Parts: sequence; structure tokens; C-alpha cells
Amino acid sequence: MAEFALIERIRRRAAARADVILGIGDDAALLQPTTGQLLAVSTDVLNEGVHFRADDPPEDIGWKALAVNLSDLAAMGSEPAWAMLTLSLPRPDGGWLDRFLDGFGALAAQHRVALVGGDTTRGPRAIGVTVHGFVPATAALRRSGAHPGDEIWVTGTLGDAAAALADPQFADLLPRLRRPTPRVTAGHALRELASACIDVSDGLFADLGHVLEASGVGADLQLAQLPCSLPLARLRDDAARWRLQCSGGEDYELCFTAAAGNADALRAALAACATPVSCIGRIGREPGLRAFDRAGRRWHPSSFGYQHFAGEQR
Ligand code: ADP
Ligand code: MG
Repeated sequence: MAEFALIERIRRRAAARADVILGIGDDAALLQPTTGQLLAVSTDVLNEGVHFRADDPPEDIGWKALAVNLSDLAAMGSEPAWAMLTLSLPRPDGGWLDRFLDGFGALAAQHRVALVGGDTTRGPRAIGVTVHGFVPATAALRRSGAHPGDEIWVTGTLGDAAAALADPQFADLLPRLRRPTPRVTAGHALRELASACIDVSDGLFADLGHVLEASGVGADLQLAQLPCSLPLARLRDDAARWRLQCSGGEDYELCFTAAAGNADALRAALAACATPVSCIGRIGREPGLRAFDRAGRRWHPSSFGYQHFAGEQR
């Protein structure tokens, strides 16, 4: 099967949208942006051996390739519309591609995302996705808006993906690693309520750290308030659990800040989209991130989060 046969397989399964004037099949897609809104654009690559394993189910790889990108759009408060898919494949394997598209398409359908183009080449297996979404100019959620006194919140639970990756005892958490839920409706609901927002891809401390830096503020976190799933709660050792929750990556939850007066409204808004949310701390003036245990003692993690090329800088 050659490149064009693979592209035809993809084209046949791409969903339509009224704002897609011309999709897959020409030299470029022609798209009709929503008048009066900003276009939010983000891209993420998944590499075999780094982000997924060669024997992972192709459906899960397809789901995750789109999910990690939709998570970035969610963190900006934007509504997804279009996706581009760049595939590097070692072999023209139609069976693998069909299964990949099953996962990609299932999530795309949930959020009415149209696949409008991409590129298909031979090489080590890697998947690049670029997503486009819309957000009213004044409503975009940035990393830079946190103020002293704001409360710090996180959706869902933390540490599940890292636990599944690290320990076969947590095999029941594998779906959290392989099929993360991008918090798209939650991001939308937070537009008028949050002061700053980021998605937790590299670990809470690393990602909240970006918010603190961009906003020029600091944070005090209460470790006992970190949301924990029932399976992860089997880990009785507090420090081991906190390490996963604070430094483990790939949660794809939203971490956001909001004025304390917005607490009731944001609880209601997130309940309306069935998204659990927990208050985990408070923004302060003093720079830095401080975490406290139940007794009010300061706790220091051994690592801050995942970084590609960590330790390789020269
Ligand atoms: P060109 O040679 O002009 O760059 P291609 O042959 O690469 O065009 O692609 C033909 C059409 O198929 C284009 O519309 C392109 O966007 C689309 N396409 C190619 N690969 C993919 C893919 N992996 N997913 C979605 N669309 C694709
Ligand atoms: Mg091309």
C-alpha cells in the first residue's frame, strides 16, 4: 500500500464541518474561521519508544495523540474545531492505520473535531497532531493571570498515569495513561471564572511552576488536599503517593487559579459538566512553590517533573 492509498483511507473517515470549505485532498485545506474570535493553535508529537511503546494498542495511540492536543486547547479555554495529522510510519500498514483512526476518530467525534489535512511519510513511527480552536479574545485563559490570594484548583485526580507507568500493581489505572480525558468542556466553563490555567502534562509541580513564573507569584500547596483516585489510594506511603501526584506526568488534568469569591460559581460550573474539582492551595506574593503535609511541615519532592533532554544540556 502506497502513500496515496493510506491518505485515501484517512480521507474516507474524516468528519465534515460547515467551516471546512475544503478538507483533505488539495495542496492546503481551506477553512472559515469564526468571526470575532481568536484562533488557538497547538501541536504535540508522540514518538515511539518515548511517548508510547511499539506494542501499545493502535487505538490508544490514536486517542492519545489527539487527547494531549485537545488538552492544550482546553487549558486556553478554547473550543476545538480542526486537526492536522502528520504520520511517520515504518511500513504502509493499513490494519495498524485503521485501528489508529478508530481511537483518533472516537475522540474527534466527541468534540466535533474535523481532520482537515496532514502529511504521511516513511520513517520511525511518530505522530504529530496540530489542533485549532476558537476562543473569544477576552476569554482566553493564560498562564500569566494568577494573583496573590487566588485559590489553586485541579480537576479530576493526580498521579494515576504515573502510577500505571511505574508499577504493574496499578494495571487498573492503565486507561488513565493510555486514554486520558481532555478537559475540554471544563476549560470552556472556566473562561469567566479562572484567572490562570495550564494542563498538567509534565507533573503538577512543573506545570504549576510555569503558572507561578508567568504570573510572578508563589504558591502554598496542601498535600492532603491533592485529589487521589481510589486505586492510587491503595498506596499508603504518603511520600510515595505525593511524588506520583506532584512529579508524575501525563495526568492531562487542568490546574487553574481563581479569585476566592468565585469558588461557589466554579464548583457549580464544573459540576454541570461532570468534572470533579479540588482546591489544593493558595497563591501568595512570595515567589516559589511550597508544599505542606497534614502537620503543616514543609515537604520537598525528589524530582519536579518530566523534562525531555533533562541532564543533557551542555
Ligand atoms: P502535497 O504533496 O501537496 O504536500 P500530500 O500528498 O502530502 O500533498 O497530501 C495530499 C493531501 O492529503 C493533502 O490535503 C494533505 O493535507 C492530506 N494528508 C496527507 N497525509 C495526511 C494525514 N496523515 N492525515 C490527514 N491528511 C493527510
Ligand atoms: Mg505533503
